[in-house]
Amino acid sequence: MPVTDPQQPVALLRLDAAMVQQLSRLQTPIWVFDIDHSRVHWANDAALEVWRSPHLDELLARDMGSDMSESVARRLRQYQLDFERHDARFSELWTLYPKGVPRTVRVMFSGVRLADGRIAMLCEAIGEQHADPETLRSAEALLHTPVMITLFDESGRALYRNPAARSSVANPLNGLWQHFVDPAETDQMLADLRQQGSVLQVSRVNTADGMRWHRVSARRCQDAVTGQQAWLCSEVDISDLKQVEARAQFLAMHDSLTGLPNRHFVNDAFQQRLDQLLPVGQPAVLMFIDLDNFKQINDSLGHATGDQLLRTMAARLEQAMHGNDLVARLGGDEFLIFTTADGADAAVRELGQRLLATLSQPVRLGHHELSVTASMGVARFPKDGNDLGTLMRQADLAMYGAKDAGRNRLEFFSEAMLAKAQSRLGLEIELRRALARREFVLHYQPRCHIGSGRIVGAEALVRWDHPQRGLVPPGEFIPLCEETGLIVALGEQVLEQATIQLERWQRTGVLHSIAVNLSPRQFGSVSLLASLRRIIDASGCDARGLELEITESVLLGNDETTQALLHGLRELGCGVIVDDFGTGYSNLACLQRLPLNSLKIDRSFISATQPSRPLAEVIIALGHTLGLRVVAEGVETQEQLDWLRHTDCDEFQGFLYSAAVPADAFEALVTGPR
Ligand code: C2E
Ligand code: MG
Ligand code: MG
Repeated sequence: MPVTDPQQPVALLRLDAAMVQQLSRLQTPIWVFDIDHSRVHWANDAALEVWRSPHLDELLARDMGSDMSESVARRLRQYQLDFERHDARFSELWTLYPKGVPRTVRVMFSGVRLADGRIAMLCEAIGEQHADPETLRSAEALLHTPVMITLFDESGRALYRNPAARSSVANPLNGLWQHFVDPAETDQMLADLRQQGSVLQVSRVNTADGMRWHRVSARRCQDAVTGQQAWLCSEVDISDLKQVEARAQFLAMHDSLTGLPNRHFVNDAFQQRLDQLLPVGQPAVLMFIDLDNFKQINDSLGHATGDQLLRTMAARLEQAMHGNDLVARLGGDEFLIFTTADGADAAVRELGQRLLATLSQPVRLGHHELSVTASMGVARFPKDGNDLGTLMRQADLAMYGAKDAGRNRLEFFSEAMLAKAQSRLGLEIELRRALARREFVLHYQPRCHIGSGRIVGAEALVRWDHPQRGLVPPGEFIPLCEETGLIVALGEQVLEQATIQLERWQRTGVLHSIAVNLSPRQFGSVSLLASLRRIIDASGCDARGLELEITESVLLGNDETTQALLHGLRELGCGVIVDDFGTGYSNLACLQRLPLNSLKIDRSFISATQPSRPLAEVIIALGHTLGLRVVAEGVETQEQLDWLRHTDCDEFQGFLYSAAVPADAFEALVTGPR
């Protein structure tokens, strides 16, 4: 069996005249191989016989490099390094090809310094092997394989290393314990080897190139020399693969835009932190941050600018937090912070406010300088919840609380928020059921001509005919329908009822026009035109009598889409009324370009006395300049109507004449005496 490196390094021998003289006398074939030049540098007579050389000069003239494989050359260079660094000494079974005839000898190798200071290899043929071809070939395979094979004795000392293993070790004297980086893992490996006989694992090992990842296949065996128990390890370097894996792992756990940990990371790491904190009673805080009006910025300045803003905000949050805190991006403009800094509410509030102030510092984005605020919800651990899921939900609720309370602020989670959220959820479930059961009814409020007092139209206003609560006004459910998207389904039911009523009234001559309110979300829905056409056709009404009321805010959206939609409505034959006019910020130039029919002045201008009346008059004049019909809504007193008569206002609507009433009551209003 091969001899291993000596435990005690000796000083490197010098090939001087005395040494040459001594070696010449020996019967053992000995030669010195010059690794740098791939030539024999010197040989004794016995070696000349091994190499089948007639005399020394002939042997020295042979170029051994010409038919040497690259892997052998690399190995020799490694040996040279081993001689130099560790005074390595080892034996290998070598097959030489003197004059092309294979000859297998066991050779002991060690380093020797030449007169010029270079290191050469002293080769000592310690015996000719006449083993069977199988043994010879397997010995060759062991020499050349890139798999690193090491035999350790029971105590972990290296008994043998094949060349690949030898060239990879940090130090040939390293045993099992120095080879593997993690002693606990090595302990476990040995325990498993004793119990199961073999182990397959991926481990970090110390190598000449530093720490690397090796796939290790180890098995229990016996040392063929001593018969003692030993461990045979075969290793393959998989560091490259590990790096790819680590990168993939990183990408899976991080957000590619900001480099911050993402939601997956949060699910793993935040819960782990909580699990560690719970037994020691350490409080912690989860902060949910959402930028205010981010969607608007993104839509108006473009996604590239939006991305840049998110990166800036992410960097600000990271800089503001300490090393132990975690900052993550949950997606969109939502960030999450986990901190254990100081659990006291006052300290948390101060930290939160500091973060909000940092975020709202002006940002330069291309040509724009913006100040973007954020809203923050805070959930405290363990006070508000023990597990990540609960805390996230609560911090999220608190964040919505901050948005509702006016944005750019911080709110702590409270039980009242939870109760509100639960009642909203209850309402949403009820609304879905009500839609399925068609519990919504329409009332109609007359719209009159100011001059003649005649009813010229009606506004359809929805009510929920609740089985227990009776008629529920729209203010109690429209906002939630709008938020949840239920408004689209509700809007269709309203349109269906209104068009059926319109067809009936048009046919019987009661009335020729009904106005229906469209919420912003309905107006933005891609299916609006198609479903309108379907509903109008199904009812058989004359679409010219159908007017749609939209609020001013809808006109502020994307100009082109709004225009296209309005033209679509006009093609269907429908009229368009701008509702609650005067409360938004309409762009007058844009109003001029849009195909509109009427302006409905908001109630607040009508009910207000002196100061706002001139404003109402300006709006009326403006409406007429734009060629629109002007309607006053919320007319409650005779005095208001009298004033309107003195203006140029065309029509009015309000409790003075009638509130919204069921269809049959409306008919009575039209046909009955007044
Ligand atoms: P709106 O479109 O501005 O409707 C006018 C509201 O003012 C109605 O309230 C009406 O009952 C009320 N009103 C009418 N005359 C007077 C008055 O003289 N004084 C006062 N104080 N109020 C008056 P309502 O029916 O509660 O509807 C509230 C809002 O709900 C509507 O405001 C509209 O935005 C929305 N809405 C109603 N029905 C629908 C619908 O079918 N679809 C959608 N998307 N929204 C609807
Ligand atoms: Mg309206
Ligand atoms: Mg209105």
